[in-house]
Amino acid sequence: MTDKTFADFALEQPIQDALARANFLKPTEIQAQAIQPQLDGRDILGLAQTGTGKTAAFALPILHHILQMPGRAAPGTARALILAPTRELAVQILDEFRRFAGGARVSTCLVLGGVSRNVQIRNLGRGVDVVVATPGRLLDLVDDRKLRLDEVRFVVLDEADRMLDMGFVQPVRRIVSMLHPRRQSAMFSATMPSEVSGLAGSFLNNPVRVEVAPQSTVVTKIEQTAELMDGTAKRARLAELMTSEGMERAIVFARTKRGADRVAQNLEKDGIKAEAIHGNKAQNARQRALNNFRHGTVKVLVATDIAARGIDVPGISHVINYDLPDEPENYVHRIGRTARNGAEGIAITLCAPDEVKKMRAVEKITGETLLPRGVAGVEPKGGRGNRRGGNGGGNGGAAKPAGGGANKARRPNSRRSKPARANAA
Ligand code: AMP
Repeated sequence: MTDKTFADFALEQPIQDALARANFLKPTEIQAQAIQPQLDGRDILGLAQTGTGKTAAFALPILHHILQMPGRAAPGTARALILAPTRELAVQILDEFRRFAGGARVSTCLVLGGVSRNVQIRNLGRGVDVVVATPGRLLDLVDDRKLRLDEVRFVVLDEADRMLDMGFVQPVRRIVSMLHPRRQSAMFSATMPSEVSGLAGSFLNNPVRVEVAPQSTVVTKIEQTAELMDGTAKRARLAELMTSEGMERAIVFARTKRGADRVAQNLEKDGIKAEAIHGNKAQNARQRALNNFRHGTVKVLVATDIAARGIDVPGISHVINYDLPDEPENYVHRIGRTARNGAEGIAITLCAPDEVKKMRAVEKITGETLLPRGVAGVEPKGGRGNRRGGNGGGNGGAAKPAGGGANKARRPNSRRSKPARANAA
């Protein structure tokens, strides 16, 4: 816990007023570490994921600097550029900037694909203080000479690991090469694979490194369980879970876009209102689905990993992994959607026999054994991993997938379990 207060930063008055209105009383850990260096003009390399308050950690100092700049942005230019991997995250970042700009005159523009270019072009034409963008559409507009990047003095690469994962390496490098040479830069990433640190090396100038563990106090409040079952039994089990006691609002994760659509359709057929959200949906449809979910019109959102990244909706009681993720790190991101802001949450993974290997990869990262060792027909009896003496391992016989019912491996002590670590990868 930090003993810093927002008053310690001497931020411009409109920002301080907006903080008070938003009821932000104390800086989070990442904010306590990252705000002052950026006010002092330093670059930042931040290891932190969504939920830590990282958006305000870069938004507040950037707004402060912009409020101190004389005049306005020249037509067709931007003063600050925030790059985000997904549209949903970009929308959230823009909201946060608007919220803290308060009543001050700070112009903003969202630049993303899947929606009309015209409004974006009109806004950029006037010159904008803060542009929040996904890389593809931004480059489109730059190539069409609707925006010049050489006046960008503040730049943030948010969720850099995800950005590179999604194949944005070249676009990001191109964008960075066009910015003002004397700029202040920040990069945030939940994990630091070599490609990300390589980019950091060329993009950042002697950065201050700040790091926060994924909110351990929050993560330990997630009760994690896994249920072994045939793939065909998942639909019925999901419907049952969605009507179980304590189910307030759930995100269900599917591995593919088609899978997400199918799960949502089946839920509807089973009498449960659900929305699907993924990259094949038009931006408007995605935003509508998210709004319905946020406002509680639908209780269940079915999402793919990429679409769900960065979604910050309070009050999600359950995360259901209908499919195991391809990348084990995504499990940590998925379950982090629940138990936000100190609430408690439940994460349930439905695991088919052909997904046991992926489940084991997840367990390796989180350090939690959720499925009993020695799944019949999949793993050797008393096989690898048993020696670790994991919590699920000591229950004798081999685990068998259930047909209709589920083989539940509930961890009795899950609330006291170690926090899942996203940056262990
Ligand atoms: P982020 O990690 O930036 O997505 O932030 C997660 C959530 O925490 C968002 O809803 C923020 O508005 C909220 N938040 C960020 N900083 C603070 C703070 N200092 N006090 C209270 N809430 C915060």
